[in-house]
Amino acid sequence: MYNPHMPIRLLASDVSSQIAAGEVVERPASAVKELLENALDAGAKNISISILDAGRTLIEVADDGHGIPASELELAAARHATSKLVQSEDLFHIQTLGFRGEALASIGSVSRMTLTSRVESAQTGARLKVEGGISGKVEQVGAPVGTTVRVENLFYNVPARLKFLKTDTTEKRAIDSLITRYALAYPQTRFKLMDGKQIALQTAGDGDRRAILAALYGVETAKQMLEVMASEDSALHLSGFVSPTSLTRSNRREITFFINGRWVQEISLNSALLQAYHTLLMVGRYPLSVLFLEIPAEEVDVNVHPTKAEVRFKRQDQIFSFVQRSVKKALLAYTPVPTVSPQLWRARPPIEFTKREVGIDWSIAHDEGLLSVESDPLIVAPSEPVAEAPAPNQRSFSGGVPLLRLIGQIGATYLVAEGPDGLYLIDQHAAHERVLFEKLMAQRENKSIPSQSLLAPEVVTLPPHSAQALLAQLEFLNRFGFEVEEFGVNTFQVRALPTLFNGADPATALRALVEDFEEDESPLAAEVEAKLAARVCKRMAVKGGQTLTKEEQSALLLDLEACQAPRTCPHGRPTMIHLSVDALEKQFGRKGSR
Ligand code: ADP
Ligand code: MG
Repeated sequence: MYNPHMPIRLLASDVSSQIAAGEVVERPASAVKELLENALDAGAKNISISILDAGRTLIEVADDGHGIPASELELAAARHATSKLVQSEDLFHIQTLGFRGEALASIGSVSRMTLTSRVESAQTGARLKVEGGISGKVEQVGAPVGTTVRVENLFYNVPARLKFLKTDTTEKRAIDSLITRYALAYPQTRFKLMDGKQIALQTAGDGDRRAILAALYGVETAKQMLEVMASEDSALHLSGFVSPTSLTRSNRREITFFINGRWVQEISLNSALLQAYHTLLMVGRYPLSVLFLEIPAEEVDVNVHPTKAEVRFKRQDQIFSFVQRSVKKALLAYTPVPTVSPQLWRARPPIEFTKREVGIDWSIAHDEGLLSVESDPLIVAPSEPVAEAPAPNQRSFSGGVPLLRLIGQIGATYLVAEGPDGLYLIDQHAAHERVLFEKLMAQRENKSIPSQSLLAPEVVTLPPHSAQALLAQLEFLNRFGFEVEEFGVNTFQVRALPTLFNGADPATALRALVEDFEEDESPLAAEVEAKLAARVCKRMAVKGGQTLTKEEQSALLLDLEACQAPRTCPHGRPTMIHLSVDALEKQFGRKGSR
């Protein structure tokens, strides 16, 4: 407990070193990051990483870089010892990833670390063991040129830190995504990640970024990514990939920036990117990006953050605008801008929706705000004459929506219906989401989710991090009428789908589901189950842009009427918009004239 009369003292060195270590190494992935950066700084062409138990038991990074001379090995493990910086002016044009001389000391103080290294000119290698910050003696050993850092039992002496680690799946995913991103940033270097005896990632080192992109996002997504390549004043260069507007995520986690080969979390760059997408994406949706910015070293201060994750630019505005313009240019070059005309139907032409249906629709399936009843009710025009509509039905009022008489479908996205008090526009996707969700949850309640075996089981291979996410959720899927089993490294076999989702393409479904699962890392409790079920239904629901037959349209309306909460989708968005007779009369100037 804090005692106000305690005198000021210097912290014991083991305490202070652990405090500093906490800033540099907060989880296995941060240790991996430091070791990777050291290998890259040493000019390695091959980097092999091995982990056990998500890095808790073992992290080993072996490189073929220039190595550390035996005489400097002890120094390398000491705090504030670096070969990369001599005087303080050097801080303003740092060319290397490391410069503080803290990483090895920090890692050594919270683990059992073994450094083995050999420089080209030496006959043999040298080895040094550090345990909880205490260095042993340097020994002579046989070793290839390069450096291997072995980190065992990370945080064994900092139990508090151990407690804060997330599940193995999450920690492993952090390592995986870190290494994949570095592999993308250094496509000329060969990376190999071993998780136990399994190869989790391997790159060719042939400079081909697309291939690595596929390891990061999966083949389909990688194919869709747009390439960015721009320069300004021969001093600023931006390269990499951004997602087209049809490919989005519900969080910013897939926005990655490297500056001069260093992975940074830089808010100003994120907002420059988002600016480029401004008005092209729905609220709450974010692009995917992996962008590499190269600028003169003296233009950027990298010494402002403990893990070097944030930087400061000398000419912030210029860089912001350069990034924004470059990304926008790439987007406009590939993505047609929807034309908006106040006189005409405002939805995008159906043909574009149809095109989107060919691939996976990663975006939220309908565009909110295209119809604004308040501002312009005249755009609500039925596509078919009212006379063709089916006879008024005799159904009774149920479930919180009035009896609706189907008129037709417009924009291949909305159903138009007449109710007792005016016109209803129903978002077919949101409505179907609601219907599926309530049916699925009802079946779950009765412990009987019927599932339908596929004639030919489908085999799906996923990128490693997605495979991990799926593994963690297999139990959930199998309880909900999917039959999915592991079928080799990162590969799964889909044997059955819930009958409710009859006709869905199993591979597409699985890939789409995994994206959502990756965003959720909480354990499976009852409310999480409902949340996941809602996501599954969202993926399986008909999309905007899908033409429905008359029968399908009326079935959907009937089903919606039978729902307990028909007015919103399971995510809380409205399923329908109401245009009352009263409002119509006002708009047509009839009110008051009678
Ligand atoms: P920094 O990278 O900030 O200099 P580190 O604690 O990470 O600090 O490393 C200390 C020193 O050890 C480095 O400056 C470098 O000289 C040496 N070193 C560390 N890892 C390697 C490696 N993989 N290959 C060659 N030298 C290394
Ligand atoms: Mg370093």
